[in-house]
Amino acid sequence: MNNPFENAQKQLEKAAKIIDLDKNTLEILKQPKRVLQVAIPVKLDNGKVKVFTGFRSQHNTSRGPAKGGIRFHPNVSEDEVKALSMWMTWKCAAVNVPYGGGKGGVIVNPKELSEKELEQLSRGYIESIRPIIGPYKDIPAPDVYTNPKIMAWMMDEFSKLEGFHSPGVITGKPIEVGGSQGRGFATAQGGFYVLKEAMKKLNKNPKESTVAIQGFGNAGALLAEILTENDYTVVAVSDSRGAIYSTQGINIKKLKEHKINTGAVKDFPNTKNLTNVELLELPVTILVPAALENQITKDNAKDIKAEIILELANGPTTPEADEILNKNNILVIPDILANAGGVAVSYFEWVQNLMNYYWGEQEVLEKLETLMIKAFDSAFKNKEQYNVSMRMATYILAVKRVSSAMKHRGHI
Ligand code: NAD
Repeated sequence: MNNPFENAQKQLEKAAKIIDLDKNTLEILKQPKRVLQVAIPVKLDNGKVKVFTGFRSQHNTSRGPAKGGIRFHPNVSEDEVKALSMWMTWKCAAVNVPYGGGKGGVIVNPKELSEKELEQLSRGYIESIRPIIGPYKDIPAPDVYTNPKIMAWMMDEFSKLEGFHSPGVITGKPIEVGGSQGRGFATAQGGFYVLKEAMKKLNKNPKESTVAIQGFGNAGALLAEILTENDYTVVAVSDSRGAIYSTQGINIKKLKEHKINTGAVKDFPNTKNLTNVELLELPVTILVPAALENQITKDNAKDIKAEIILELANGPTTPEADEILNKNNILVIPDILANAGGVAVSYFEWVQNLMNYYWGEQEVLEKLETLMIKAFDSAFKNKEQYNVSMRMATYILAVKRVSSAMKHRGHI
């Protein structure tokens, strides 16, 4: 199994080589600036105390406070959190929001906890990492298996401990307690905006374009809906229990109801059931991995027929697969750009919290579109200038911005 932190370091080294990055800067950027490990005791409903291990990694803060989600998952590890915090540094820099990169995680299966235990864990985690977080230090957000409800508990705990209302300490909150309009579908919406730009560059018409989406959750299902409303034909989708396919296109609104009723997308009327592996290899214009890491590997990359890959998931393509896709001239819009809509609207949420003045949905979406298009165009310019993949082009954009901030501030 690939070590995610080693992968992240390799990607950085590759970008550094292309731009001839100063060696000292590279040495600093290869490691997170700070990693905190915490022990969080939770009194279980059966009266026993269980101590959970958590982490918060701050990779770089030269462009601003650290920013990144909190993951509650049994497979959380220090290396995973360190890698994710480094990717957050690049993501924030790529879309030019004034943050560094951070990430947190707790080793836990939240599905095994009662609501009361989950609340204790969430509050306990914030209490333990409080010395290093805050609206001007490090601003967490949701990630895998954490959600707006958990963000509200965490914001409340921090505010209580500080002694004043502090909504800007965390983003992804419910609207009623300082969340932003548009945050719920920001990742899908941001992905849609960059896809639109990529389509223009390749002279493609949405009306003649088919899409396969792996993953029918927050990111994948919302993108499917946006795409069908904008003339694309979504021909295949999958979830953990299997995939469905129809060359005529899938009615996404009805599919959502089917998933609610049956718990899965498979067996949807007028579609053919496929395996998850088959979905990835369909002859479509656009393939959207929106589920897990390491889905496109050296074993299946050569069989992918899509012309554009929009990485809504984090890390869906292994470095070896990436080389094969590039050789086959497939335009891969990398995760740090394709799914950056989430952190972009998190930034808008934080700005609104600090001003205590709130925007309507239209205003948020206009700002998101401008920001995503700018990021895509800047990366695309690098792609042409350096003759590299869109992933490397986005890394170059980000690494240059971060190293330049480090230089200006005297961090190197
Ligand atoms: P989610 O839990 O809402 O949805 C995940 C979906 O993937 C589910 O439908 C699940 O059934 C499906 N899935 C799981 N295993 C699968 C498999 N083997 N094959 C096909 N489908 C499978 O999660 P999400 O929030 O949509 O996140 C998905 C990805 O997008 C993750 O990599 C996440 O890090 C990334 N992402 C999400 C956001 C966001 O705002 N939601 C932001 C940035 C990145």
